[in-house]
Amino acid sequence: MDLNDTPEQAEYRAHVRDWLERHRDQAPPRSGSYEDGGYVDARRAWQGRLAEAGLAAVTWPVQYGGRGLGPIEQVTANQEISRAQVPGILDVIGIGMLGPCLIAHGSEEQKSRHLGPMLHGDEVWCQLFSEPAAGSDLAAIQSRAQVDGDGGFVLNGQKVWTTNAQFASFGLLLARTDPDVPKHKGLTMFIVPMDAPGVTVRGLRQISGEAEFNEVFLDDVRLPADAVVGGVGNGWGTALTVLMFERLTIGFGSENFGSPTHLAQAIAGDETARRDVDARRRLGDVITELLAVRFNGYRALTVLSRGQIPGPEAGLAKVTTVNAGVAAIDLAVDVLGPDALAPETEWSYLTSFLPGLKSAGGTEQILRNTIGERVLGLPTEPRLDKGVPFSELRSRERQEVRS
Ligand SMILES: Cc1cc2nc3c(=O)[nH]c(=O)nc-3n(C[C@H](O)[C@H](O)[C@H](O)COP(=O)(O)OP(=O)(O)OC[C@H]3O[C@@H](n4cnc5c(N)ncnc54)[C@H](O)[C@@H]3O)c2cc1C
Repeated sequence: MDLNDTPEQAEYRAHVRDWLERHRDQAPPRSGSYEDGGYVDARRAWQGRLAEAGLAAVTWPVQYGGRGLGPIEQVTANQEISRAQVPGILDVIGIGMLGPCLIAHGSEEQKSRHLGPMLHGDEVWCQLFSEPAAGSDLAAIQSRAQVDGDGGFVLNGQKVWTTNAQFASFGLLLARTDPDVPKHKGLTMFIVPMDAPGVTVRGLRQISGEAEFNEVFLDDVRLPADAVVGGVGNGWGTALTVLMFERLTIGFGSENFGSPTHLAQAIAGDETARRDVDARRRLGDVITELLAVRFNGYRALTVLSRGQIPGPEAGLAKVTTVNAGVAAIDLAVDVLGPDALAPETEWSYLTSFLPGLKSAGGTEQILRNTIGERVLGLPTEPRLDKGVPFSELRSRERQEVRS
């Protein structure tokens, strides 16, 4: 039993710990290259094992293969997976964000076709939202889905920063279906098979040397009418569900980055840092922050009931968790120096990966605005384009560029 576990939570924790104890020898390494097909396949298979043991989609309803438990039990599973030093699920985007969106907005056919293979790692998913000119202002996306003669759609446009698209089987894609209404209203969500004719994936290499995310080009991609998720014109509401789960996933996925124990061990293991008063003071500050963020997050989770779509409060966990994680790696790098960047250390990957999380899932500035307006009830930012049809906005932009 861990801090404040209820008897039921303690029972679940014991189940998770016991299963991991018995199966950890069969787990692939925690880190490896996503460009190595063998490693990705091993991670998919391990995800399948976690799913069968009820450690993957802990909060999904039982009828869709989940465990039907609350988010706090998901945290318990993550904690134990981290403690056992084995990898978690590969498809965090699918299971953590897109699956819950399909459960909330998808048709019964979509759920029964897609949720099982997603959960077991047979089909990995990617999130096709961001575009070169639409990140923070996601509702400004320009990818167009036009109605085809047969009732389906033809898709054209470009997406960017698409994590895992290089090995994804499906993507959940936000496209504009009506340019003549205000920008938030003319959007629709689609399921796109990544091997459909007209879909081209091109890797983007990051500072870590890995190419984890991609550009995705869409040229006359044909989609059937039943590829729509949540109804034509309802894409903004459907996208918000994904974004809320994304903030929750990043905000509470901290077990693997900025771990107080790992940081303390790294510093305790360094002879000079151990004697350095300033390093010890910073360690105290950073660990206090990491623990405060974590326990505040747990408190927020306990009020989220089972199956509930998280609200804008999840943004607070995302901002504070990522900032605390970045402060932790800054300290590790300052103390360990070049040793922190040796490829085999966990700090090396985190140093290049964590700063990106400041942007992924909503930037700090955007989330601070959301928290101010929607959680604290502060006055809203002036929105000059409210109510203006998207086509009118685009034509104003073109005129501004010309003049
Ligand atoms: C590691 C990583 C993985 C990602 N994976 C995916 C993925 O799988 N699928 C996907 O669709 N996207 C993905 N993204 C993209 C991510 O969602 C965007 O980076 C994010 O939404 C920000 O958009 P942008 O990069 O275009 O920045 P911009 O929107 O151009 O913002 C640039 C800067 O301007 C600031 N800014 C913008 N507007 C305002 C405003 N109104 N007020 C104050 N400040 C503002 C921002 O805070 C930021 O500092 C990923 C990004 C990263 C880093």
